[in-house]
Amino acid sequence: MQGLMQDWPLLCHRVIDHAKTQHPNREIISRSVEGPIHRTNYSKIHARSLKVAQALDKMGIQEGDRIGTMAWNTWRHFEAWYGILGVGAVYHTVNPRLFPEQLIYIINHGEDRVMMTDLTFVPLFEKIQEHLPMVETYIVMTDRDHMPDTSLKNAICYEDWLNDVDGDFVWKELDENAAAGMCYTSGTTGNPKGVVYSHRSNVLHSMACSVPDMLGLSSNDIALPVVPLFHANGWSLAFSAPMSGAGLVLPGAGMDGASIYELLTTEKVTVTAAVPTIWMMLLQYLEAENGKLPDLQRVVIGGAACPRAMTEAFQNKYGAHVDHAWGMTEMSPLGSFCSLKPEYAGLEGEALLDIQEKQGHAPFSVEMKIFDDEDNELPWDGKTFGRLKVRGPAVSSAYFKNEGGEILDANGFFDTGDVAHIDAHGYMQITDRSKDVIKSGGEWISSIDVENMAVGHPDVAEAAVIGVAHPKWDERPLLIVVPMEGKTPSFDDMKDYLSDKIASWWMPDDMVIIKEIPHTATGKIQKMELREMFKDHVLPTADAA
Ligand code: ADP
Repeated sequence: MQGLMQDWPLLCHRVIDHAKTQHPNREIISRSVEGPIHRTNYSKIHARSLKVAQALDKMGIQEGDRIGTMAWNTWRHFEAWYGILGVGAVYHTVNPRLFPEQLIYIINHGEDRVMMTDLTFVPLFEKIQEHLPMVETYIVMTDRDHMPDTSLKNAICYEDWLNDVDGDFVWKELDENAAAGMCYTSGTTGNPKGVVYSHRSNVLHSMACSVPDMLGLSSNDIALPVVPLFHANGWSLAFSAPMSGAGLVLPGAGMDGASIYELLTTEKVTVTAAVPTIWMMLLQYLEAENGKLPDLQRVVIGGAACPRAMTEAFQNKYGAHVDHAWGMTEMSPLGSFCSLKPEYAGLEGEALLDIQEKQGHAPFSVEMKIFDDEDNELPWDGKTFGRLKVRGPAVSSAYFKNEGGEILDANGFFDTGDVAHIDAHGYMQITDRSKDVIKSGGEWISSIDVENMAVGHPDVAEAAVIGVAHPKWDERPLLIVVPMEGKTPSFDDMKDYLSDKIASWWMPDDMVIIKEIPHTATGKIQKMELREMFKDHVLPTADAA
């Protein structure tokens, strides 16, 4: 027997239809790339996204064609996504922080026919366009007054392009399983791989994100996604905000502490999301300028482990609750969210921070399990850690063009490459990426735990821990520290500080101070580069072995 409900395909552009119908006046406020603050609303965005779809259609863009975007978070980028989706094409966000060789690789691999670019990246494309033979047209996302003289192939000014159509367009009818978007993983090993989202996966994922135990946005929220749309599907915010009717504040190219602070306060933002490195800059700014965050209720932190001291600073000093989240490009991206179930409700102080160090519990539509190296499932006891695997309707089943071959195990689970434990209440905690785990005498040391504790020291701005070769133990941890300005913590200070916070055999064998820790294009500590930098480092304990 079949259900007797309507067949209403889950299509992404239905989300902007909904926002226009139910929340037409909710504002989208952007720091434009040209400078001034720009204000619009869901009703106007809807009208302009129809124009984008119509203009792409007029150009001959077909269903499934890839349209690259290299752009900051602004209203233009946001409406362009919906226009691309509504004509049945596929948005392909390109991360400008990648190296030119990687950019060339992914734009060619993705076979982007059109590239929409912000003014910021015009010089970059002028340099690399000769290596991008498949890009037929560059659309510069600006108005006539700011349109540069450019050598870009068939360069078009975005606002002129929209003025050439009347917006009288009907969204394409599509299969909900059709491709909607593409985002390449940063490819720390091998070439970047293309993750391909479908309309259905984006809609389901956004619904899964929207429940109160997850992002829980409402029409009373004003959300500031600092996380760019080109990071891991923009953490769902381009869909979950209009789906919930939340207003949006989009930071454009201004990601520094002062610019973010200005938007958070003047636009009365209630919830914001970004990686820890962004929040490190904001907290330093708040400290230096004696800033306050009276309207901000929640800060979502993910992409890398959120240090305990960061959670403490936001909550205890600035009154904004921290939601620690974990996910990955291949998961659309949300995998877990650390909201408090009744089992942990009412916790305070250190006990609360202990729980918030965890990456949290999975939403409906994400199944997660942990396994040992022989693929035996491990217990949820909050201690035993192993490889974290996931399954669900918004988790990748393969990479674009089948790069990397089969990526699911016999039961359809995807290995995240993360190592984690899960407690009795379903709270998962990442202890490492499997390739970064430090193997000391056959046991694993969690580099993330030690790093998180080390950055709690008042003289430490950032810390990383890597395994360095040791004659007796295979590997022992080396602590790498970037000090706060004007401070020079000693190794003895750090050992004293860490002594009651980590197991004694996790204590680093040595410490080095450096000016800057290298980060990946998505804000993660580049462990591979650090391992390369310190591959010949001789630990003082090596002699004693
Ligand atoms: P990339 O392109 O850099 O691989 P992803 O966002 O896909 O970007 O990276 C996903 C990985 O980031 C996860 O597998 C995990 O290792 C790490 N990560 C994400 N969120 C967290 C978190 N809250 N704590 C620790 N690690 C995290």
